[in-house]
Formats: sequence, C-alpha cells, structure tokens
Amino acid sequence: MIKLSGISKSFGRVQVLKSIDLTVNKGEVVVILGPSGSGKTTLLRCVNYLEKPNDGEITIGDYKLDCKHAGKKQVYELRQKSAMVFQQYNLFRHKTALENVIEGLLVVKKLPKDEARSKGAALLEKVGLGSKLDVYPSQLSGGQQQRVGIARALAMEPEVILFDEPTSALDPELVGEVLEVIRKIAKEGITMIVVTHEMGFARDVANHVVFMDGGIVVEEGPPAQLFNHPREERTRQFLKRIT
Ligand code: ATP
Repeated sequence: MIKLSGISKSFGRVQVLKSIDLTVNKGEVVVILGPSGSGKTTLLRCVNYLEKPNDGEITIGDYKLDCKHAGKKQVYELRQKSAMVFQQYNLFRHKTALENVIEGLLVVKKLPKDEARSKGAALLEKVGLGSKLDVYPSQLSGGQQQRVGIARALAMEPEVILFDEPTSALDPELVGEVLEVIRKIAKEGITMIVVTHEMGFARDVANHVVFMDGGIVVEEGPPAQLFNHPREERTRQFLKRIT
C-alpha cells in the first residue's frame, strides 16, 4: 500500500501541492487527471523524491518517511520502493536496450551480470522487444523506447511504478502499443500511479481516478463515478473540455 499524507511542495513562494492525501492499495491502478499546472507531475516526483516535499509523510509498503526529517539514508531506502517511467523515456543513449534495462540490477541490486542479462532479456521479451536487445535507443521508435523504459522499471521489482504521462511525447500511432503494455502489466497486479491525459485508458484500466486542480485533490473515486457522475463543478468543467 502507498499512503501519502499532507504532502506539500512549494517552488519559491508558489505552493504547487497543498497538503495532498492519497492512498493506493496493493495491486491498484490509480490514474491522476487534471489541467496543466495542477501539480500532477510534481506529486509523482515527490513519491520517489525527485522533488523533496516540504512537508508530509510517504508510506510505501512497510516503509514510512517523514519528509521534514528524512536524511539521505531514508531517502535512499524510499527510492528503492518505486520506479518511474518518464514522458521523455530518459534512456541512456550510449547503452543498448538490454544495458538500459539491467543498469539498476547491476548497480543498485548488485546482481551478477549473467543473471541480470537473462532477467533483462525476459522483460524485453515481455514488452515485445525480444528481438531488440542489442539495439541503441536512437534505432528504436518512441513507442519502443518507452517500452524499454517500462521494462527497466519492472526490472527493479518496485512496490509501485510511477508513470508520468508515458504516452504524451509519442506520435499518435505509437500510443496504442505503449498503453497495451501498461494494460498487460496492470492485469498482473502491479501497483501503479499513472498521470495521463488518455481518458479511454483511465476509464478501462484505472481502479481509482483522482482529479487534481490548483495543487489539491478536488475529487476522487472509481472511474464510472468520476467520469459519469462527477460531484464537483471543477471536475465537470475539466471533463467537458477534454472529452
Ligand atoms: P502538465 O499536465 O502540464 O504536465 P502538471 O499538472 O503535471 O502539468 P506540474 O508539472 O506538477 O503540473 O507543475 C505544477 C506547477 O509547478 C506549475 O505551475 C509549474 O510551473 C510549477 N513547477 C513545476 N516544477 C517546477 C520547478 N522545478 N521550479 C519551479 N516551478 C515548477
């Protein structure tokens, strides 16, 4: 289970997150929606401390971190519990697909090379890239690069995978293949928090949808409720604009 309590974050004098509470149960897919600038990406980045929250508590599994008092060691521990899939893939350009996937297994998990390679190859197979192990990112399409990014996240066997708008940098014809892979791993019961503008995906795959605006959670609930019977006017206006 992931539990965020009272997460706040300011950049200079601008408070971007205003005491966010969010619970994600094990195996759940939570989709975060909201207009541009509402704080979705910042919230996701706070979960694995790419941004340091000013206040609040983050619990992932049995590990709890008090953001105000966390030292380097606690932050390192927390980071091991999640993996991020980035909008721009963030692959190492000079490493092959397989080398990208196994980097964390070698450096962080200290797996022997043979073991890491066979695990990495199996994961690339799983995301449909079994024939691309030795290919460099520049020789892959955006959709394929993102699938390498997903395999890399899976390799670390995190408690939660954080997807930050994983398809928004892709040409429209490549979006489907990436969403298909995310759907497949969601079915396997991997806990996920997904920031996306893909409403069809949110409706089909999410167990729970969170609507953010202005740094707060305005409304949350199961997709059928949030999409078909939003309670809040702000949610209604947002859904009207994007659907
Ligand atoms: P989008 O859908 O456009 O990605 P978002 O909901 O993910 O938007 P965030 O990227 O979290 O929104 O940004 C929330 C606010 O915080 C924005 O006003 C943004 O300009 C600001 N912000 C984000 N990162 C920084 C930063 N490193 N320094 C200063 N301001 C930032």
